[in-house]
This record gives sequence, structure tokens and C-alpha cells, in this order.
Amino acid sequence: MESLIKEIGEAKNIGIIGHVRPDGDCVGSCLGLKAYLDNALKDARVRVFLEKPGEIFSYIKGYDEIDPEYQCEEALDLCFALDTSAMERLGKGQDIFKNAKKTICIDHHISNKGLANLDHIEANASSTCEILTSLFEKQYMDKEVATALFTGIVHDSGVFQYDCMSKRSFELVGELCEYDFDRSRIIDETFYQKTYVQNQILGRSLLESILFMDGKCIAAVVDKKIMEFYNINYEDMSGIVNQLRITKGVEVAIFMYELHRHEYKVSMRSNGKVDVAKIAALFGGGGHVRAAGCTLNGTYYDVLNNLSLHIEEQLKNYSSDE
Ligand code: AMP
Ligand code: MN
Ligand code: MN
Repeated sequence: MESLIKEIGEAKNIGIIGHVRPDGDCVGSCLGLKAYLDNALKDARVRVFLEKPGEIFSYIKGYDEIDPEYQCEEALDLCFALDTSAMERLGKGQDIFKNAKKTICIDHHISNKGLANLDHIEANASSTCEILTSLFEKQYMDKEVATALFTGIVHDSGVFQYDCMSKRSFELVGELCEYDFDRSRIIDETFYQKTYVQNQILGRSLLESILFMDGKCIAAVVDKKIMEFYNINYEDMSGIVNQLRITKGVEVAIFMYELHRHEYKVSMRSNGKVDVAKIAALFGGGGHVRAAGCTLNGTYYDVLNNLSLHIEEQLKNYSSDE
């Protein structure tokens, strides 16, 4: 894309939609784009349609204006899909997106096959927020936009730790750091900090995790009863799979929680030898080589058996390639 502002053209009624169960990159990119467009465009109306993100993100400008009800009867002039790799991932936002006169998707998932009139996909970018940072013109940037984008990069890169952070990513983060906002507070309070109950569920998951495939795979599950007992939702469990991944010797970590009886939301993380996006795609999901997700039916053990077959195969091929 040459210029985002040029692509927007004369559009006045603009929507921004992210994926279901939004994470930091999704919230940061949607609110960052809104704050930027509010600065750049005169007399345009820009709305964000998103499932209500956790309170931890309430410091980001525009948080209170998010429409979690997806109320939009008219056809928008332009609608963005951000951080969203497939149409179904827009959840309740699908109709709004499909009805818009023009659509633009900005994303960084390798599994994204395109879903808009204009698809801007950079699979090498650490995050959608990184792509936006590179697309935004300095004259419309401010501290609020930078705060939102910084949040998304922090979350998708594990605080700049993962391989997805390139030299270019660090340069773009550097540009955001020109604005005066409290970076360590964002990292501490939105990435590392856990409530007591979140720590309890993390501890419980680790305690009950199972190690298999000669210690190369680790898995843990939280069922609905437990979620109800602790009164927690998906956001409360977001760091568990990463903690499982750093178990010494492990190649793949699997974390799942029960959505309905015999239906699990699965998160996978790899330490590099296994491409988990490939496996997630086999089951209708997607993501990145080292972090992917999907929804699977069956019992916990059915799901584990299905996934481990593919993990084992990739590990076998990997060692025979060496
Ligand atoms: P998660 O394990 O849910 O944190 O997701 C890891 C990565 O995979 C994220 O980048 C997600 O956007 C992506 N992802 C998760 N679930 C799905 C899915 N059902 N379809 C496509 N991508 C997914
Ligand atoms: Mn995301
Ligand atoms: Mn992302």
C-alpha cells in the first residue's frame, strides 16, 4: 500500500473491526488506527467494533468508545479488518465488513489468504501494530497513537523477545519511543501483571500439565467447571501457554480451554522445529509458525491425539532432515 490516507480517499463513514477474543495487538491496532484517523481526517466518523477488551487496556485512547454490540445498520464507506486472518475471525463483525462499500485488511498472519478489496499482509512483521507504525505519517501521529501501537507490539512479540522482532521492528519501536509515554508501566501492567486468580489458574495448569512424546510436548487444559469456579474468562488464561513453552526440552506446548462440551479452544506454541500454523490450518485455524490456534471438537484426549500425530510427524521429518 502506497499511502493509507490516499486509500481512504473521500470515505466519511469508517469502521474498524478486529478479531474475536481480542488480544493486545488487536486492541492496540484498532484503537491506534482510530486515534490516527481522528487526527488525520476532517469530518469523518470512525467507529471501532470489537468484543469488549479487558480493563487492563482502558488507558488506551478510545477504549470507552468501542462498540461491543456491533451496532451498524448502514453500509459503511470503508471498513478495516485488523489483525484478522480469516473472515470468520471477525465474529459478529462479519456482516458490517461484508456490507461496506470498500474493505481493507491489514494483518501479519502467514495463514491469511486475503479477505478484503485491498489486503495488506506482511507475514514478517511482528504485529499489526508494527505494520501500522510503518504506514502512519508523522504529521498525524501523537502520544496517544504511539501508546496504542507500542502496546500491540509488546504483546505480540513477548516484550520484544520473539524472532518476529526484526531490525526494522526495533527501528519502528524506536520511532514510537520519541513520544513521551510510560513504556515500562505498559509492559508491567498489561503484560506481566496478573491478578491473584490469574496466578492461581496458571499454577494449577502447570501443576496438572502432562509431559509426553519424550518430553518434547507439554499440554494443559482448563475445563468449563474450573473457569466457572474461579469466575475467569479467556483473557485470564492468556499467558499460560507461553509459560508451558519455556519448559526445558519442550518443542511444542499446547494449552486448551473448554468452550462448550467437547469443544476446545486450542493454543499452540513452538520453539522452532515444528510449524504450528500448519497444524492449526489443518483444523480450520491459523496463526504464525511459532504461535497458532484453532478450535477442535472431541474430548481433551481426542484433541491431544489429533494434534500430537502431526507434531510427531513434523519432528520426525525435522530430525531426518538434519
Ligand atoms: P492464540 O493461541 O489464541 O493466542 O493464537 C495464536 C496466534 O494464532 C494468534 O496470532 C492468533 O491470531 C492466531 N489464531 C488463533 N486462533 C486462530 C484461529 N481459529 N484461526 C486463525 N488464527 C488463529
Ligand atoms: Mn491477535
Ligand atoms: Mn497480531
